[in-house]
Amino acid sequence: MSDYEAIIGMEVHAQLLTRSKMFCGCDANVFGAEPNTHVCPVCLGLPGSLPVINRRAVEQAILVGLALHCQIAETAVFSRKNYFYPDLPKSYQISMYDFPLCQQGWIGIEGAEGSPKRIRIRRVHLEEDTGKLFHAGNYSLVDFNRSGLPLLEIVTEPDLRTPEEARQYLVKLRTILRYLGVSSGDMEKGAMRCEANVSVRPVGVPEFGTKVEVKNLNSFRAVKLALEYEIRRQTQVLAHGGQVRQVTMGWNEGQGRTVEQRAKEEADDYRYFPEPDLPPLRISRAWVDELAARLPELPDARRARFVAQYGLSASEAAVLTSDRDVADYFEAAVQAGRERGIPPRPISHWLSGELFRLLKAENIEIGQTRVTPAALAELVALVETGAITAHSGKAVLQEMFATGRRAGEIATGATQVDDQEVLAQIVEQVLAAHPEQVNRYRAGKTTLLNWFVGEVMKATRGKANPQVVTALLERKLNP
Ligand SMILES: [Zn+2]
Repeated sequence: MSDYEAIIGMEVHAQLLTRSKMFCGCDANVFGAEPNTHVCPVCLGLPGSLPVINRRAVEQAILVGLALHCQIAETAVFSRKNYFYPDLPKSYQISMYDFPLCQQGWIGIEGAEGSPKRIRIRRVHLEEDTGKLFHAGNYSLVDFNRSGLPLLEIVTEPDLRTPEEARQYLVKLRTILRYLGVSSGDMEKGAMRCEANVSVRPVGVPEFGTKVEVKNLNSFRAVKLALEYEIRRQTQVLAHGGQVRQVTMGWNEGQGRTVEQRAKEEADDYRYFPEPDLPPLRISRAWVDELAARLPELPDARRARFVAQYGLSASEAAVLTSDRDVADYFEAAVQAGRERGIPPRPISHWLSGELFRLLKAENIEIGQTRVTPAALAELVALVETGAITAHSGKAVLQEMFATGRRAGEIATGATQVDDQEVLAQIVEQVLAAHPEQVNRYRAGKTTLLNWFVGEVMKATRGKANPQVVTALLERKLNP
């Protein structure tokens, strides 16, 4: 069985975060809305209505194209994709065919063998979503709220070889979409939908095998399981001398298998032709340059910077940059930690270890926690200076997480001491008790400063303000 390899290509539809729909002014925030409340003659496909292109959607699509290293077309053309389905009242969908917006890009992933690999992007184009059918016994209902929502279709070349590579690709793509702020990428809400083209061939054979399309992949888990299943199935067919048929399959989560939806003896004939109601979309280079200047720092660049600037390992940096909000939180905490003399590394450990664990247990995002970046930095400072142990630090963080109280308050059951006179006395006592360390510090071992801070914190049972203590110590130790 190991003599076969899989060839996988992915198609992703991502819903763009525009305020209005792709070709009309209807409110695009339709999730959870009453059926057929976000509709108008344009998105219902009524005769005589005319579409108008949503400029914001085009901008977002170009931003994605730029982030995926694509060539941005000078002229893109909307085309009609003709097919009949009850959730598509016009009997065609406005999409792009011969002249898509963006082509020939790539996304970098780690690759199955851990070596960097580029997955080529064939095209990125805009289209409109369809309505949604609800089957109820022997009749069906249709909700047109989703009809006309802006979708970005992102298609790869068949460069993926394993379900793990497909997962990595999707995770990276979603991270980029979120960094750009153009899509929530929320698969549960249908804001990101995946289809895979899968074929299997004997290793060493240059030609591709017959490909099977797998639809309804609504979670990363579904992608992985469906691909594993389909690769196994096709390999078995070939290993027994059979032929894989060209079909469209759906992933049945409950049964844990792919199910044939329709045979595909010949390519679908959608009779594409240019949309007569819309002019070709001219994209000036000045506009593209303007959008390029607006691109934020993207995940790969930010990860590399975290390694170089904060001395993190590649895997730590990958965890912290996988979500833009997490990366922003980390950098804010590092800033607050710097003021307390705390390096970035322990902040990374506490954030991606204990705080992530608490977030996961409560199923909330980093933006929803009551532990501010500065509060996390304060906790890490207490642990790093030895005022509290790492073990009690965990309990303190749990309490901070639950109540929003500060680490210093919880650690001591009292508010912080920053009375200069009180602290100056304690500093004097600590220095008097450790003459040998004072001499070593004055002989040049200045890294002992943190140790002295820790001693003062212990003496005050964590109540001292570490910034005040640090300043006092520096003054006394450098007379
Ligand atoms: Zn509308």
